[in-house]
Amino acid sequence: MNKRELLNYAKDFYEEDQLLELDHAIEYAKKAHTGQKRKSGEPYIIHPLAVAYTLVDWGMDIDTVLAGVLHDTVEDTDATLEEIENLFGRDVAFLVDGVTKVSQARAGMRDLNSYLPQTKDNLSKLLIAVGQDVRVIIIKLADRLHNMSTLQHMKPEKQIKIARESLEVFAPMADRLGMGRVRMQIEELAFSYLDPAEFKHLQSVMKKRLGKSTRKLGVVRTEVERELAKHNINVEINGRVKSIYSLYKKLVKLQGNIDDVYDLMALRIIVDNNEDCYRVLGILHSMYQPMISRIKDYIAVPKPNGYQSLHTTVLTPNKQIVEFQIRTQEMHDYAERGLAASFHYHEQKSSKDYTRKKGSSSTLPAQLQWITQLQEIASRLGEDEEISRDQLNIDLFGNRIFVYSPKGDIYNLPEGALPLDFAYLVHSDIARHAYSFRVNGMIHAFDKPLQNGDVVEVVTRKLSSPKQAWQELVTTSHARAKLRMQLRKLGLVESISSAAAIIRDKASRKQKS
Ligand code: MN
Repeated sequence: MNKRELLNYAKDFYEEDQLLELDHAIEYAKKAHTGQKRKSGEPYIIHPLAVAYTLVDWGMDIDTVLAGVLHDTVEDTDATLEEIENLFGRDVAFLVDGVTKVSQARAGMRDLNSYLPQTKDNLSKLLIAVGQDVRVIIIKLADRLHNMSTLQHMKPEKQIKIARESLEVFAPMADRLGMGRVRMQIEELAFSYLDPAEFKHLQSVMKKRLGKSTRKLGVVRTEVERELAKHNINVEINGRVKSIYSLYKKLVKLQGNIDDVYDLMALRIIVDNNEDCYRVLGILHSMYQPMISRIKDYIAVPKPNGYQSLHTTVLTPNKQIVEFQIRTQEMHDYAERGLAASFHYHEQKSSKDYTRKKGSSSTLPAQLQWITQLQEIASRLGEDEEISRDQLNIDLFGNRIFVYSPKGDIYNLPEGALPLDFAYLVHSDIARHAYSFRVNGMIHAFDKPLQNGDVVEVVTRKLSSPKQAWQELVTTSHARAKLRMQLRKLGLVESISSAAAIIRDKASRKQKS
């Protein structure tokens, strides 16, 4: 990657003055990194240029691309943040600072296997960086992707360490941001270093299989295309090949039988609008026998990271099992690029929506509310000793569920969340007066976890107030912090140690029942 290639690629996407700035940033970074080399022996500058190229490719705004060019200057060279701010503006400096902080936080992680920083200080740096501007993480992902693709120049122990960290931290992070393609790229690279023998084996098994199924799928595809044309539905059909790592995971789950993996190759149908997705599904089901348990409507009920599509698996007359994924172009862009798809080249405005917004969770789409929640956690770090590493671990990397208010507002919570977690997410005043819960119209116990898709109603009573026992009935750090604040106000914590409080509270509950 050199300067000319990057500028040449960028020129289709940015305004003239933005391209001049890019040129300027490249010159600045080149000078700063003079004399530095990558492990491959190449000049260091190829790395920031490759990162910036990826960010252009993902459709990021110009500030992110500039920060990509400059991302290693403050950490590795004499360049200073003040200088960058003077030359390229506050936003770019802010992003470079965020990336630098994440790197420093990582350096402070003694045990990468447990993948969270050991010290609160480092953790807070990482989270503040993430929470304030998600573009920092997007730059880190581009950075990681390039480092993974040049990993062959590293020592074997280092390769393993970086590959493991990528699989455990960066791939889930990409997934959480809905960036499916990046997640897959990171996983494939990481897996190829962590278990090279298995990777090669699966690659060759896959190749053999695909040869056969591609031919058979071609027949189905032609048939489908002809039928949809008859219905005047405008479509584009592509084959989607399963990644080696997801095949590996599936084989582990199925205990090794590749014959049971139906979706080695799926047919992806891209249509113009939502209605056409359902029309295509209907037509497919009238042509072939669907396997009932494998019909998934991720359009009506998106995956927690925002992924949308219809999935169905059918049996053709000659007993071939074929998976279809049906989606609009917009859904497809989101599935591939996730959050990055919401940053538009010229529209600085839209990217601002994801930037340092201190407002309520509802300003972000449901699948991204966790970002706001992280901001809140980050801002409380250091003042509240009660947020444990485990807590953050769950919030950051655990699976998410969607639940609904009776009005149909969507809320995003970690898997295993309890009704009070929901109540505190809606509003701490509602939570404060929680008396009971109705889930899908039925009375629901305080200690019973919510499920994806639940409709949750908080029944409040004016005279009801937070109880110490609630500390055991919340799982998110958000709810825990709000609850503790309320208990403190009521004088219910700190007068006695929390352990003693819980024991006492348990005892009193037993007496009552
Ligand atoms: Mn870098």
